[in-house]
Amino acid sequence: MITDRNAPSGSSAGAPTNGPGSNGHGSAGDPNAFNAIQVEHIVKKYGDFTAVDDVSFNVKEEEIFGLLGPNGAGKSTLIRMMTTLIPITAGTARIAGHDVQKDPDAARRAIGVIPQALTSDLDLTIEENLNIYAKLYDVPSKKRKAAIDELLELVDLTKWRSAQTKTLSGGMRRRLEIARGLVHSPRIFFLDEPTTGLDPVSRVAVWEMLTSIKSHRKLTILITTHYMDEADRLCDRIAIVDHGKLVALDTPPALKASVPGSNVIEAQFDNAPADWEDRLKKLNGVTSVQHEGASMYRVLTGDGSRTTTELVEAAVHSGVKIRSLSVQNTTLDDVFVHYTGRQLRDELVKAHAFVMPPRPGLQP
Ligand code: ADP
Repeated sequence: MITDRNAPSGSSAGAPTNGPGSNGHGSAGDPNAFNAIQVEHIVKKYGDFTAVDDVSFNVKEEEIFGLLGPNGAGKSTLIRMMTTLIPITAGTARIAGHDVQKDPDAARRAIGVIPQALTSDLDLTIEENLNIYAKLYDVPSKKRKAAIDELLELVDLTKWRSAQTKTLSGGMRRRLEIARGLVHSPRIFFLDEPTTGLDPVSRVAVWEMLTSIKSHRKLTILITTHYMDEADRLCDRIAIVDHGKLVALDTPPALKASVPGSNVIEAQFDNAPADWEDRLKKLNGVTSVQHEGASMYRVLTGDGSRTTTELVEAAVHSGVKIRSLSVQNTTLDDVFVHYTGRQLRDELVKAHAFVMPPRPGLQP
């Protein structure tokens, strides 16, 4: 079991460093690091159903922390509790040191939140949307214009500042919402599935934007996602959530290293004999074999080149035809399979996908 080296005592994610009631300082990696977010044994029940089940983790200041899991895992429920939007059934969450149940206003002042649904006013321009938020958050009028100018640059929307929001593409609207969430200079930024529904190019643009914003501002980011590539590329640490429980937590390389085998061989065979899976398991280096149907096998190995050579030799000797063969490094998908026994991509196919609302106008 992977452990959260920063988690509180008795946590579902592992070894103690800060007990409940601590001041938020201290982690195994950096003893002086401040915990921007501290979640301790948090539970959310809807009637008899437990949506979040005794989850504990800490997020260090200026860290990008990912909650990764399939739809329905409890990621949004966790964010809603941390951002004071729904009551907590049991446990605690501290945001910038403020207990969200005892001092929700102080917690709210420290955070920016980008919910999954797009909520900017479609009939207003980009600049008007940002201005309204700046006023709502009491950004002094003298500072407002400079803050908005800087944010428009950061999200690469300066030249569209006077465009009506309804004419923007999904990716541009998402970037506007990211700017809007930062207009009051929060210290901690929560983003719930920020790229769901976006095309691959817009998704990468949003990742680059978040990385760039992070390099310009002192900001802690908590992001939920069901995209493994997104979590892998963006996050310093990832918590894998499944059925409301935290099942693994560490850096992406450490999570991958925790899975036995460092390479994955995916191969498709014609006329494989009945004992083919057993024979693959006996090849040198192999730690596990999954038969994925349609004569596709997924072989985890600690010695990719040796196993591949032996696999090809075994196929030749047995008269088995190799239809396709690929060797890759371990992915977060393998990590998910290792800890949950299921493939994240299969879970997502079953789930209902969020669809970006159509845009009534034209992209400027
Ligand atoms: P995720 O964000 O990982 O997709 P959610 O946090 O939205 O998951 O949901 C976790 C579980 O809690 C799901 O099974 C969902 O159906 C359930 N759930 C969420 N909100 C409510 C609610 N208001 N009432 C009852 N069940 C809910």
